[in-house]
Amino acid sequence: MQRELSHKKVGIPRAISYYNNYPFYYGFFTSLGIEIVLSDKTTTKIINEGCKYVVSDTCLPIKVFTGHVVNLLDKGCDVIFVPSIQSTGYKINNCSKIRGLPEIIRNVINRDFKMIEPTLDKTENITFKDFWKNTAGYFGITDEKVINNAIKSGWKVYNDFIAMTKSGIGYHEALENAINGKIVKKSVDIVKPLSVAIMGHGYNLFDDRISMNIIKKLEKMDVKVYTSLNVSHKDAVDSIAGIGEIQYWANELELTGTAAYYLLNNKVDGIIALSAFGCGPDSLMVDEMMYHCKETGMPLIHLTIDEHTGEAGFVTRLEAFVDMMMRKKRNLLNKQSAKTPKTAAEVVKIRNDKVLTGSAK
Ligand code: SF4
Repeated sequence: MQRELSHKKVGIPRAISYYNNYPFYYGFFTSLGIEIVLSDKTTTKIINEGCKYVVSDTCLPIKVFTGHVVNLLDKGCDVIFVPSIQSTGYKINNCSKIRGLPEIIRNVINRDFKMIEPTLDKTENITFKDFWKNTAGYFGITDEKVINNAIKSGWKVYNDFIAMTKSGIGYHEALENAINGKIVKKSVDIVKPLSVAIMGHGYNLFDDRISMNIIKKLEKMDVKVYTSLNVSHKDAVDSIAGIGEIQYWANELELTGTAAYYLLNNKVDGIIALSAFGCGPDSLMVDEMMYHCKETGMPLIHLTIDEHTGEAGFVTRLEAFVDMMMRKKRNLLNKQSAKTPKTAAEVVKIRNDKVLTGSAK
């Protein structure tokens, strides 16, 4: 058992697991009366700070995580949550950097602070409950009933968040609502001329600085965007099997599972793979999806990001991809329809007519 902390405050870096799990973290820690201090939103300064501490060929998300730990220390927060999430299911593993996150941080940041570093390793039978019992233990909380209630509170906030994102509410709005105990669902699904699915880790996609606001940029181009937040766990698992693959990576549901779901359902006009330069797991998953997209004629673009990625080139590639999808769709609808669509509005109208008559592809 670790030494009990004298004050009930925890710093959470706004990076890596924050983007998937913060609603749960919020419900759990606040239920135990532990105050949360969040690092600031990612900025160029935070990225540059992280880059100073780790070797240059480390992937961007780990540099960003390191920068967020430094940001918390600079704010005077010296107790920081750095979990080691080894595996999320039997032999469903994270990459070595996420597995060894506490070791990386301990070895690169030579400052005086305490890490809350529980391990989740379902392959080795270290369960979700063990993980949270261990976390609570750092704060001297050992009462099973209190911990179980905190886990329930975590699930409540998390499930509210997921219910909202599934209904089509965006990541940031759903998060804000969930932690404020509000549930708002989107009732109308707006039809747009084009739709895409993005396969990418939450920590790349929903960090507006890292993703260079890709979702908003696409929406401004009149493109409907789907992400892993719109796909249920079961659908993602089934879709990986549906394209004949086997889940190995913990993050695979966000990448292969999401892309495969939209590919199999033929619900989108294209797939965007957004990944960090130098990421081993991503390169395997993206290659796999490229193969399946090629087989089925689904357009896919792979955008890689690092700390040097320039916004202008990124936008040019996005615009070119959107133009190509629109040309392809016009040609397809042209073949299926007597009337050639000239504008985006006509593309939507023809698309809607086909949905109503059940003939949409
Ligand atoms: S999965 Fe890839 S991007 Fe994410 S931490 Fe590991 S190496 Fe980096």
